[in-house]
Amino acid sequence: MKQPNDIRDLSFSELADYCKQIGEPVFRAGQIFDWIYQKGVDSFADMTNLTKGLREQLQKDFVLGPLEVEKQLTSNDQTQKFLFRLSDKERVEAVLIPTETRTTVCVSTQAGCKFGCRFCASGIGGWSRDLSSAEILSQILYVKKQAKQHPLSHVVFMGTGEPLDNYENLLKAIRVINGKEGLNIAARRITVSTCGVIPKIQQLSREGLQIELAVSLHGYSNESRKVLMPVNKKYPMKDLIEACREYIQKTKRQVTFEYILLKSVTCSNEAARELGRLLKGMICKMNLIPYNKVWEFDYEPPSPSEAIAFKDQLERYGIHATIRVPRGRDVGAACGQLRHTNQVPEPV
Ligand code: SF4
Repeated sequence: MKQPNDIRDLSFSELADYCKQIGEPVFRAGQIFDWIYQKGVDSFADMTNLTKGLREQLQKDFVLGPLEVEKQLTSNDQTQKFLFRLSDKERVEAVLIPTETRTTVCVSTQAGCKFGCRFCASGIGGWSRDLSSAEILSQILYVKKQAKQHPLSHVVFMGTGEPLDNYENLLKAIRVINGKEGLNIAARRITVSTCGVIPKIQQLSREGLQIELAVSLHGYSNESRKVLMPVNKKYPMKDLIEACREYIQKTKRQVTFEYILLKSVTCSNEAARELGRLLKGMICKMNLIPYNKVWEFDYEPPSPSEAIAFKDQLERYGIHATIRVPRGRDVGAACGQLRHTNQVPEPV
């Protein structure tokens, strides 16, 4: 028997078409989206302003359940990590990051990752499959309910997987996150991170979206990047920078470069000089990420003073840089630490 579709796989217009097909007025699509994305119900039975007949029809045609949470960890800094078990037993993680002024959710887009960056836990064990847009949205819906101090305000696609390698489902989810009928989160509060899949960056530049793009650079030269990021063999650094320049020109948006700080590897004087040369004249900023320990790898983060010295050097070369404050390190929830297993992180 065919498994009913998850209703969260439908865009707003697809749901409106479905309503028409079953003889319901189109405004029902707005009511259903409101129940799912604003009121956050997990069952059709709770959609009390729909007729009983429509609720039964939806129940027959679709599923709408919360994700199963296998494990939930809270960091000393109040960051929360959730390990979800999907219907086929694959696992993904999402992270809730509260601050004084905002609440951000970091979402996974794939179960595992095929890109195998040499500092990242998400690529260990390889890639299993893409997540559906319903699975992407379900992570957000679950985490949204856990937000306490401030309502969910920002979404970053920086969890497990390469978002642009799951392009169609990613875009479909973004349109619901951004849509006024959906989660209604402003495009500028949605960030997509990529390891540098050039054709998809080019495609994204044509979508007319005002979202933020973060490009994982992590190397200061083609050679240094190739060691850390195997994707650089297919999409070399020079081409990536060129694609970013085109992206900026076409979208009139700045690009953020993510750059990992590995002691004695990526934060030398030479690295700062090369980056200054490479990014000269670009409308961009650089997010420096002190390495978050993954016990399978031997790298170490620089000391805080070394990190600040590197940032200052970049500033001298004209690059606006900030150092990311690590969040959730103690529960393996920080950047580069997410996994698609229920493995407990080694103590740091
Ligand atoms: S950094 Fe991103 S692309 Fe690289 S292995 Fe981790 S999840 Fe995959």
